[in-house]
Amino acid sequence: MPPSVPKVTRAQIVVRGLTNRCPNCGAHSLFKPGTLFQVNETCGACGFAINRGNDEAFFLGSMSLNYGVTLVGFLLPVALLAFFGVIGTTTAIVLAGIGAIVVPALLYRSSRSWFLMNYYFFLPHHLPANGGTGRAGQDENT
Ligand SMILES: [Zn+2]
Repeated sequence: MPPSVPKVTRAQIVVRGLTNRCPNCGAHSLFKPGTLFQVNETCGACGFAINRGNDEAFFLGSMSLNYGVTLVGFLLPVALLAFFGVIGTTTAIVLAGIGAIVVPALLYRSSRSWFLMNYYFFLPHHLPANGGTGRAGQDENT
């Protein structure tokens, strides 16, 4: 029997993840309308379980991505600029202090989407559109 072709491809999952869309249907439904940080429990368009209340991995995973991108994308360049004398030490400390708070807040929405993208990129068969239940723990690969 030939392997089944997924309805939602990995390329679609990546595009949806980078544009903060539901990985299952592509709707702009990850966050509650009018809020910045409140994740919807389910997708309003397809019912996909976005916020897995009792699955801390989805929160901690996205925060780890957020931390890593902030560290490598902002704090490390500031440290290198100070190290090579492009900016002063005081300026670097102020920039790092402000950036350590502001950059993760700016990346919060994207990091939640990136983690969903990361998860379903490697386990696309877990998406309901591809025949999965959309929940972690559905097989031994989780
Ligand atoms: Zn959806």
